[in-house]
Amino acid sequence: MFHPATSGRMPGLLLCTALALSACAEAPNATPALDTPTLAPASTVNAAPGNSATTEQLPAEPSISFEAWRDAFRPKALAVGVQAELFDRAFAGVSPDLSVVKADRSQPEFTRPVWEYLDGAISATRVRRGQALLAQHSGTLTAIEQRYGVDRNVLVAIWGMESSFGQFTGDKSVIRSLATLAYEGRRPQFAEDQLLAALLILQHGDIAPAGMLGSWAGAMGQTQFIPTTFNSHAVDFDGDGRRDIWNSSTDALASAAHYLQASGWKLGEPWGYQVALPSGFDYALADSDVRKTVTEWTEQGVKVPAVAVRADEQAYLLLPAGHRGPAYLVFGNFRAILKYNNSSAYALAVGLLSQRFDNSVQLPQNWPRDDLPLSRSERIELQEQLAARGYEPGAADSIIGANTRKAIRGFQQSIGLPADGYPTQHLLQRLRAQ
Ligand code: CA
Repeated sequence: MFHPATSGRMPGLLLCTALALSACAEAPNATPALDTPTLAPASTVNAAPGNSATTEQLPAEPSISFEAWRDAFRPKALAVGVQAELFDRAFAGVSPDLSVVKADRSQPEFTRPVWEYLDGAISATRVRRGQALLAQHSGTLTAIEQRYGVDRNVLVAIWGMESSFGQFTGDKSVIRSLATLAYEGRRPQFAEDQLLAALLILQHGDIAPAGMLGSWAGAMGQTQFIPTTFNSHAVDFDGDGRRDIWNSSTDALASAAHYLQASGWKLGEPWGYQVALPSGFDYALADSDVRKTVTEWTEQGVKVPAVAVRADEQAYLLLPAGHRGPAYLVFGNFRAILKYNNSSAYALAVGLLSQRFDNSVQLPQNWPRDDLPLSRSERIELQEQLAARGYEPGAADSIIGANTRKAIRGFQQSIGLPADGYPTQHLLQRLRAQ
């Protein structure tokens, strides 16, 4: 997973992050794009914790051979304490993995609507499997809750989202994948840092080189931790002396709990809940930067369910599909999940799945299913159209970030539409018609 500073997990199968559908249908991690950079297909890779880059620039072809790169990297590894013998053993026979390069450079044209992502993430099969595992691991989960203060249902939900409860953890050599990305990836420094961390994990003896498998982006094991997150947060909870998130579900669940604890999780507090907005609501308030207490939201006319929340808890309004879809007030625990994977769709899926295990929530029905997401090229056109009209959406990179949302709101207000900052086909048509 990840590193708290950037968000813990990693781009595992992240390719799919964006909603990109087809390709990711099977990937446990496929994160939709709901959000911002996260949502944008382009940022696919970003969804994983640990990944925060937003650039889409493709790297130039390497100017040196892989072997020359490796030989230049070796002293850096030795300088952080990696033994020469271990380095040479870990790199024996390692060559660039072209499938990793291809995945890293992939810029999916189509993305999956958030409701389809949630349909897959919260399938009846996954709910039943999670319920069975909650019962099976009850004793372990009680011990983990007591030690780390993280609710069992959310841990099992993350386990389901990351690796389908350990069934899909990635089958690529982490050393080979990260070496490939350090040599010719889009973010070579990030990959190099992860590679150094991976070598230190091997040296620590948590896993043998042959067993260190993960996603193309280096997300490892049942929690899909990236190596730096592993080193900062993985724990040996079953007491065998190794932090084994690949083969020990106990270690994996406790490691995820340790990470969420460090991310500010509060035991027994809600992650968020669905709310109703009054007619005439100012949708510009639905922004992760606008935080208010439940009392303050209520004063804005927001109708909240009868769920106890700390009086000082700061919440923001999340509209995963714009003003035509469901609205959620989300709290600190939601932001803790985002530290694991910085995608609102992902965090929403984890929250809802955790509640489906005990049937304590209904899934929203009011999705605008007739509203197809913009493709990558349509998002770029949207940004270009907004810029041409003076709205300053930032670079035309297809990523719907804060600047683009602000520009969309400006245009929506100018033509009398609800200013939810949410890009739609209808909005693009209005821009084209101007
Ligand atoms: Ca262990």
